[in-house]
Amino acid sequence: MSELVIKNLHVSVEGKEILKGLDLSVRQGEVHALMGPNGSGKSTLAYTLMGHPFYEVTDGEVWFKGQNILELEADERSHLGMFLAFQYPVSIPGVTVANFLRTAINAHRKAANPEDKGISIPDFRRLLTAKMNLLKMDNSFAGRYLNEGFSGGEKKRAEILQMATLQPEIAILDETDSGLDIDALRIVSEGVNALQGPHMGVLVITHYQRILNYIKPNYVHIMLNGRVVESGGPELALYLEEHGYDDIREKHNGVPA
Ligand code: ADP
Ligand code: MG
Repeated sequence: MSELVIKNLHVSVEGKEILKGLDLSVRQGEVHALMGPNGSGKSTLAYTLMGHPFYEVTDGEVWFKGQNILELEADERSHLGMFLAFQYPVSIPGVTVANFLRTAINAHRKAANPEDKGISIPDFRRLLTAKMNLLKMDNSFAGRYLNEGFSGGEKKRAEILQMATLQPEIAILDETDSGLDIDALRIVSEGVNALQGPHMGVLVITHYQRILNYIKPNYVHIMLNGRVVESGGPELALYLEEHGYDDIREKHNGVPA
């Protein structure tokens, strides 16, 4: 059973503490939503989990599949089965979506088995076509340069396509809903739901309740000022929608560290 366990995580950016003792666990097969207002540290958590060098862990632990991942580089975390869909995906002019995905798949296969010769072109085509159909993407998408001139919705779909081809054991989706119209949101969510199963855990990071109408979480956590301040079931997201973050802020004002 692969499980992501975050204990008392403290993270600083340029000397300023952003995460202040965050605890969270996500098991394979579970869907967790992490909600919080802007600036609460959601993206900081996502980047830290994937090993972005900018984010300095000053205290706490993060375990995945029994390994202390804070000792691993970003690519090693990916090979271990972790995946992050970025809030703001970068474009890579000159590298097509297909090439990018094939390179990523082959890197994973090589990490698992140094003798691996890589996925064959026909196998890759079949895989890519199947996943693109799942996400209702046009075939021409594969030949475009990664995120270059993509609309907001296309970028998010490209992220989920990466997830679909890499088949991670834990996927962290950082505000995948931002910038999506309702149709794109539905397609992206359906894609995530189709991939989600007993082998994959999902951490959906979001500001708004909206995406949780499509991706149904088993657990909802509310983050405030670098910490998870409340955890519960789906009803917590509905409570938030009704009362907003101000209510939660008020409730937790003056809570001792
Ligand atoms: P959220 O994703 O919840 O909106 P962030 O993790 O992006 O929150 O930001 C939390 C805090 O950390 C903010 O005060 C933000 O200004 C700061 N921060 C995050 N990343 C950086 C960065 N790369 N450089 C400077 N400050 C940052
Ligand atoms: Mg963010």
